[in-house]
Amino acid sequence: MGKFILLLTNGISLERHQSIFDHSVANVNGGNINLMSFVAPAAPPSPQINHPFENLSVFQGLNVFLDPGHGGSERGARGFAQINTMPGLLFPPIGAMQIRFFDEKDIALSIAGHVNDTLQSFGINVAQSRYGDYNVGLDLRRDMANDFEADVFVSIHLNSSNIFNRGTKVLHHPNNPFFEESRELAQTVNDAVVAMTGLRDLGIELGEQVVTGRYTQMPAIITETGYMGGDIRFLINSDNQRLIGESIALGILTYLYNNAPRPTIQSIPVPHNEVSPVDTNSPWSPIESMW
Ligand SMILES: [Zn+2]
Repeated sequence: MGKFILLLTNGISLERHQSIFDHSVANVNGGNINLMSFVAPAAPPSPQINHPFENLSVFQGLNVFLDPGHGGSERGARGFAQINTMPGLLFPPIGAMQIRFFDEKDIALSIAGHVNDTLQSFGINVAQSRYGDYNVGLDLRRDMANDFEADVFVSIHLNSSNIFNRGTKVLHHPNNPFFEESRELAQTVNDAVVAMTGLRDLGIELGEQVVTGRYTQMPAIITETGYMGGDIRFLINSDNQRLIGESIALGILTYLYNNAPRPTIQSIPVPHNEVSPVDTNSPWSPIESMW
């Protein structure tokens, strides 16, 4: 964003470049500069997934904070799988099958990116605690979510590397100030993940270890969508990572939709008369009738 502000102060005239959003390239001070990475035009929502929502306007202006677990030197759970390194060959030679290691931090970041894309396609503002492979402290993640004034906080993890365990679950902290809301959010997200991915349903749980969800000023959950052990072959597939991301997004959207402000009986417009009609049959004068 800093770069864009610099461009503006260098004399770019938006009036003279009305078509920059159509062509993605603007002529600025004689040089071609791609502005699409700096400025996004306000576009109507165009959801990327099938959804049951009748009124998409309820999502406008909502903020969701995504927290891909771990990062940098904190790699999270590490799983392994045997991979065919020569998938094009019908009969791969001995040695083509190799053991590869996969880190929770990388799969979590990939899933978060798909959640982000899907939510933004509904017009929701999304911020993430990290966008790459680097360390971010737990307190900082919480503070970023509070500063963003997020409506919900969703931390994205995969479960342990125990090869005998399979399944997906969502946790929330027992002392989060939005306990009931967090529980509802956990349930809608878990339901959507189970329905869309087919991962084994382990339900929702209270978790003291959900430290980032303890002091957030909004409902907070942690998703554990599969084990880096028993679910590893499912988790390393990039199409499945997208599916998990879309399913988490659908669960978040469902919660937000169900809790969106609705018109109440008080907000229905009532005809209002500027001057109160005088009841000519009343024995009381208008002044007396006030008392
Ligand atoms: Zn984790």
